[in-house]
Amino acid sequence: MAELAPYAVAEHNSRGRLHVEAPPHERSEFQRDRDRIVHCTAFRRLEYKTQVFVNHEGDLFRTRLTHSIEVAQIARSIARALRLNEDLVEAISLAHDLGHTPFGHAGQDALNDCMRELAPASGGFEHNLQSLRTVDLLEERYGAFDGLNLCFETREGILKHCSPERARELGELGRRFLEQRRPSLEAQICDLADAIAYNHHDVDDGLRSGLIVLEQLDALAAFARHRQDVASEFPGISGRRMIHETLRRMINALVVDLIGETRRNIAAVAPQVLEDIHVAAPLVAFSESMRAEQRELKLFLNEYLYRHFQVLRMTNKARRIVSELFAAFINDPRLLPPQYRKMAQDDNVRAVADYIAGMTDRYAIREHRRLFAVGEI
Ligand code: MG
Repeated sequence: MAELAPYAVAEHNSRGRLHVEAPPHERSEFQRDRDRIVHCTAFRRLEYKTQVFVNHEGDLFRTRLTHSIEVAQIARSIARALRLNEDLVEAISLAHDLGHTPFGHAGQDALNDCMRELAPASGGFEHNLQSLRTVDLLEERYGAFDGLNLCFETREGILKHCSPERARELGELGRRFLEQRRPSLEAQICDLADAIAYNHHDVDDGLRSGLIVLEQLDALAAFARHRQDVASEFPGISGRRMIHETLRRMINALVVDLIGETRRNIAAVAPQVLEDIHVAAPLVAFSESMRAEQRELKLFLNEYLYRHFQVLRMTNKARRIVSELFAAFINDPRLLPPQYRKMAQDDNVRAVADYIAGMTDRYAIREHRRLFAVGEI
């Protein structure tokens, strides 16, 4: 592997871990972070959490687990090309969705509404913060500390957004949101790799489900362009093979564009050390024309997939499950399993939110049935 760029995150410029530990043997600190994430409980739960389609709707749809692996793949390609820290982007990518509720955004919105209503001071629910809470506090795996005790830079990458109020509570990690400083290039890469991954796999899953059809996609310049290339290179190609060949070219074009544009941005700013990245404008970016195409794709998915009536029926039900679970546990914390019941003695609302956020789709459905299906007493 090529030597890291001088402004990449590395062990020598890392701000380290909250609890000091002996250095790892035969692997880097960031490999160790990645390994800790892969072995944690919240990571395994991603397999049964919705991306767009509820887990049991079909075996071939993306889940949060396969989504996270796709993000890691894209982020690693970009990081390696730019001589940035590949282990760090892998760790951030695999951890970025650990705090996601069951039922994707519908679950998060429902939980957020419940918390805001009942405990405005809690600041509501935010999946980014919950991912951080998962790796900082909730995982119980080590004798010496709560959570996974990850490096500062991994935690910085996980916390993509944060309100000023929450940032103040987070101390050092929250500082950049108050001082308008940028995270590492590695964190910036993961943010855009996330968008590349979900925009394209949601098109794929949307087509597979039949909720969107090819003719609609031809309205998108990027899709139409690549589909045409595929058709002229492989006359007669059709069906899933054509779709995959088109989508992979779209992803590849975006990754190549992003690497090129970012290289130009880096050359213009000429950073010497990591600190230069924190005070510069965001350097990881698409070119203007690709950015426009990405926006177009996002709008398309919003309009035709995320707000498709069949998806809305699912999300509507998901919201109900989450809010009814929340209300039941808040009204009577004795219904919580023992470890959360204990947590609820200190902070009722937070304990219920942690419990619900940790649920997989099918666990939430089952728990709802256990609490509300009177026929099953
Ligand atoms: Mg994601």
